[in-house]
Amino acid sequence: MDWKRRRTLPTACVKKVAIVGGTHGNETNGVHLAKHFMRNMSLVKRPSFETEVLLSNVAAIEQNTRYVEEDLNRCYFLADLQNDQMSRSTLERKRAREAWSRTWAELVELVQFVNYADL
Ligand SMILES: [Zn+2]
Repeated sequence: MDWKRRRTLPTACVKKVAIVGGTHGNETNGVHLAKHFMRNMSLVKRPSFETEVLLSNVAAIEQNTRYVEEDLNRCYFLADLQNDQMSRSTLERKRAREAWSRTWAELVELVQFVNYADL
C-alpha cells in the first residue's frame, strides 16, 4: 500500500485529532468505544491539540453492515475528497467529504478502531 497517497494533508505538527468509530458499521467495538469517549472526553482531550470523537459511517452502523454502497476506508484519498462529482457518487463518499470538510482539514492521522477480524 502506498501510505503517502493515503495521507490527506501533509503538515508539520498535529493540531487536531479525530478519533473515529464505526468506519465499518458491523464492527461494534469501535462504535462502543467512540461513544464511551464522547461521554468521557477527558479521557482523550490533550492540551497540545484539539480532539474530536465521531461515528463515521452512521448509516452502516444503523444497518449493522460493513458499508452501504462502498467501503468508507477507500474514500479518503485527497484527490477524491477534492473532486465534487466523485465526492457525491456514493453515500460513503458523501460522508467522507462531509467529515473531512467539517473537521478533518488539518487531520494528519486517522485512527480507526478495528475488530480482530480485520487483522
Ligand atoms: Zn474495519
